[in-house]
Amino acid sequence: MRIYLINPKQKWHKANLHCHTTNSDGNLTPLEMKKLYQEHGYSIVAFTDHELLFDSSYLTDENFVAITASEYSISDLKNPAYRTYVARDENGNVHWRDIKTIHLNLFSKDPHSTFHIATSYENLTDYHTKKYSPNKIEVDGYHRVFTKESIQEVIDRANKAGFLVQFNHPNWSLNTREDYIDLKGLWSLEILNYGTELETGAEYCINIYDDMLRSGQKLFCSMGDDNHNRDKTAVDSFGGFNYVGVDNLTYDEVMHSLEVGNFYCSNGPKIKSLYIDTKDGKIYVKCSKAVNIIFVSYNRGFRNYSGENLTTADFKIFGKEEYFRITVKDKYGKVAHTHAYYLKDYGY
Ligand SMILES: [Zn+2]
Ligand SMILES: [Zn+2]
Repeated sequence: MRIYLINPKQKWHKANLHCHTTNSDGNLTPLEMKKLYQEHGYSIVAFTDHELLFDSSYLTDENFVAITASEYSISDLKNPAYRTYVARDENGNVHWRDIKTIHLNLFSKDPHSTFHIATSYENLTDYHTKKYSPNKIEVDGYHRVFTKESIQEVIDRANKAGFLVQFNHPNWSLNTREDYIDLKGLWSLEILNYGTELETGAEYCINIYDDMLRSGQKLFCSMGDDNHNRDKTAVDSFGGFNYVGVDNLTYDEVMHSLEVGNFYCSNGPKIKSLYIDTKDGKIYVKCSKAVNIIFVSYNRGFRNYSGENLTTADFKIFGKEEYFRITVKDKYGKVAHTHAYYLKDYGY
């Protein structure tokens, strides 16, 4: 029997899970964003404007799903324990580039959700939110601050209110291990943020994903553009995406596939099929032309196919891997990643 993890019989829709529009500091309207991404073969975009949640469902139609979402920041404005503490200069100006932060994308399972959980009015005083009248913004009044407890509280409240929570661009945020390790309830780590990769050259962080997995955190991995489209160009678009498997392109199916991990992320290659054959206890991969197909697990059982035009690989399950994830790398250095699959979920 074949247990499909990436089933070629499904439709695999391209998704950008991170962007900014004129609702915050982006330069395209939500409608222009939809048009731009549709022209480039995408059928799913999460509208993750800073701090505020907008009902994006008016953009959804039979060919496109607009995910209602927000990018929350939790910045270290007060904690002098961190060496990056330079919150204000002598003139009272905030030096945000010196401030350690955590950015979380919250993706709503309810397309119409506009109630801001884990938010106080004080949290909404930055320049992203100033153009909106505070009395039009519904909040639960919880004041989020940069402590482990408060960050965990934000994640807990988000999960309870029906959001999937992604941990964004850890390098740009100046994060170190203690910031993310042990957080519970994260849905995914953004292993490539294209916008901050263009800025830092160091935002591809599959090693942080492995660190989290080996430390016992269970979460998926994803990629996103975090595009702002300055001067209305697309220079920070189309550099990190996800393929989401659904039978019908509806909001509920897309969110369900994301929630259960029926997706993989890429900045180039495609993973066309992935299954476990229970007869021979092997994992089979089919992909677009690659130079490496790599198996990574909890233990040191790394296995790496390398060649010029690889399109298939298989990996025997020996039983001590605990979990595995697959990396496909093409000749241009572009990569596709599956998230970790736990073998005990499949009877091993
Ligand atoms: Zn961010
Ligand atoms: Zn962003």
